This record gives sequence, C-alpha cells and structure tokens, in this order.
Amino acid sequence: MNVGILGGGQLGYMLALAGYPLGLQFRFLDPSPEAPVGRIALRVNADFSNAEALDRFANGLDLVTYEFENVPVESVKSLAQRTLVFPPPVALETAQDRLREKLLFRRLGIATADFLAVKNSAALDAAVRSIGLPVILKTCRMGYDGKGQWLLREAADISRAKSEMSAHLPTAFEDSAPFVLERFVPFTRELSILAVRARSGEIIFYPLVENHHRDGILRLSLAPAPHLAATTQQAAEGAARRVLEALDYVGVLAIELFECDGKLLANEMAPRVHNSGHWTIEGAVTSQFENHLRAVCGFPLGSTTTTGHSAMINLIGELPETAAILAIPDAHLHLYGKTSRPGRKLGHVTVQANSQKSIAEKLAALPAFFQRPIFCLSAAQESPLASTGAATL
Ligand code: AMP
Repeated sequence: MNVGILGGGQLGYMLALAGYPLGLQFRFLDPSPEAPVGRIALRVNADFSNAEALDRFANGLDLVTYEFENVPVESVKSLAQRTLVFPPPVALETAQDRLREKLLFRRLGIATADFLAVKNSAALDAAVRSIGLPVILKTCRMGYDGKGQWLLREAADISRAKSEMSAHLPTAFEDSAPFVLERFVPFTRELSILAVRARSGEIIFYPLVENHHRDGILRLSLAPAPHLAATTQQAAEGAARRVLEALDYVGVLAIELFECDGKLLANEMAPRVHNSGHWTIEGAVTSQFENHLRAVCGFPLGSTTTTGHSAMINLIGELPETAAILAIPDAHLHLYGKTSRPGRKLGHVTVQANSQKSIAEKLAALPAFFQRPIFCLSAAQESPLASTGAATL
C-alpha cells in the first residue's frame, strides 16, 4: 500500500519506521530540504500549496494522512477529491483554530476553561471583565509550543497584549475570531489522552499520560499517569470518543487536558500522532505510530496494553552523548537527524521500569545533562516526581 504523508518531521519519520515492517511504502511532501524523512523515504520537496507538487505527490497513492497540523486545509481538501484522506479534513480544520476547537468541545458537552472569542484589541477589556483576571489570551491560529499567547495577570499585561495583538490580526477565518481569551486554570497537572479510531468505527485508547512543559514545550511525559483514578481515565475516554464520533475520525487523536480539583478540562486536540505518545514505541504492545497506520490503512487495530511504566524525555536544543544514554539500563534513544538549534526537538529518550517508584528512581539517577532541561520546570510544575511519590530532586 502506498501511503502519502503531509509533513516530513520526526512524527513522519517515526510513522515510516513503524510502517515499513507492515509492508507499507511512503511518500512525503515537505517544504524543508532538511526534513528528517529525507533520510529514509521518498520526498517531494515543495510548498504544501504548490498545485503541481501536490499532483506529483498524490500520483499513485492509496491514501494520504498528515503529521503536521498547519498544512493548508485547502491542499488537504483538494487531495481528498482524488484519494482517501484520513483523518478527515474537518478534523484538521477544527484543530487549526482554537475557537472552533473549543466550540466543538462545548457542543459535545466536554468541559473546558471558560472562554470568549476576541475580535480585536478594542474588545479585550470587556472580555477580561467578563471572565476575570488572571486569563490567557491566545491567537486562534498558528500558535504552538506556547507561541502566540499572553498571560494577563494585571492591567499592565493587558496594555502590552493590546499593543502586540495587531501583528496577529489577519489570520482568522471569517466565521471565527483571531483570538480566544481563556480563564487561567490553576491545574494540578496536565494530562493527555491518545485515542485511535479505525475505519470500521472501532475505538481504542491508551492510558492517560502526565505531561510536564517548560517554556510551552513538552519536556517529560509519564505513562501511565501516576495515581490515575479509573474515573479520570473513563472521563477522558468519554470525551475523546465524542470527538472521534462527531468528526467521523480515522487515525490517532490526542486531546490535551488539565486536571483541576479532580476534574478534567479539555485544552486542545491534535489530529495526528502526538509527542506525548512517543513512549508507546517501547511502552505499549502497539505504538501510536503503528496504530495510526493500521487505522488509516483499514487494518485491524493493535493492542494498546502497556508493557510496564515509561518516562519519555524530549531532547531539546542540544544532545547528550549517545554512549551516556545507552549506558542507562532500560533507556531507549531516538534521534531525529536534525541539526541542533535552541528550542528544537532533536530526539527523545524513553526510560522503562516495572513500577512508578522505579521510574522515579531512574529519572533521579539520570546523568547531569538531563537535570537542566527536565527539572527546571515552571513554578506550577516544580516537581515532576512529586506525583510519583518519590523524593523531590
Ligand atoms: P497550549 O498552546 O494551549 O497547549 O498552551 C501551552 C501551555 O500553556 C499549556 O500546556 C499549559 O501549560 C499552559 N496553558 C494553556 N492554557 C492554559 C489555561 N487556560 N490555564 C493555565 N495554563 C494554560
């Protein structure tokens, strides 16, 4: 089967690595000459909206999927007229716009932080008054890894945001708004659920994962999330199921959630394989990458049962010595073949153990390189190990 993938970053790279053993062939479309998939797969090196390149890319494909969220929806829709596209373009269209995404959650009865659409800087004051400080102002489109966001705690923050908002104005759809204002949630922790829906409509879930961010970038995921109540897992599965069915979705879907006072609030969704699911390569019977491909290709889904406890640590901006990682028992190194640059995801390490306590001990014993990126977390997330019951570093 010939699978086309829009986007050739590390997610596409790991999709291909999971798909080759299944006998799948891959062709990628990505504008970057340095895209990681260039090392292992055929690639059309062109802009996503280049019609001639889309033709060349689509020729002979059995289906198209995507690993990059900001592919122009028009390009995906035009591909959908000539071949199968999964997940459906409506999922991409929804996920590309925070307001649409939140309105979908609301329509499906999925709790979120209180939010309001904000059309321009003149409308900000009234929206802030309505929700009450502190709030977070976010651009509806093109925001990722914490970019395009303003935390507003006091009047001076509102003035600063107003002066910066105009730079983001022209990007909204006509039926949306350029900004969404959200209540700041004093969450206990951030979780994510990964769900998979097959072409047949079958739905399966991975266990909730606990995520730790710094500077808006995921640093560490603990899977399954420590101290997970069965009711919390059920609530997350219920929310994901409603989204999957409402969108007639096929593939892996990730939903990022805040846990607050024992309840879940949905923050955002990603219609693709997700960074918080990288642990599944070693930590589950079937990885998120393989299950995404099984789903979009119409194959039976694979078991999501975990094989113990996992911690996934992103390697951001700089790399440790390979030998130092490989010397750690039960650590697995994944390098994406990218050149180093501050803030860039260059690879990840998954550490495995048979208990949460043992995971915490292994994290605490990591070489000095890791202490800085993982453990210098924001005030709200000072101790990634607190929830595992191990001593705080
Ligand atoms: P996002 O781009 O929406 O995923 O936001 C990036 C990060 O900002 C999240 O992972 C949270 O740590 C934080 N954040 C986003 N929205 C809120 C909110 N409403 N309340 C508190 N923290 C938030």
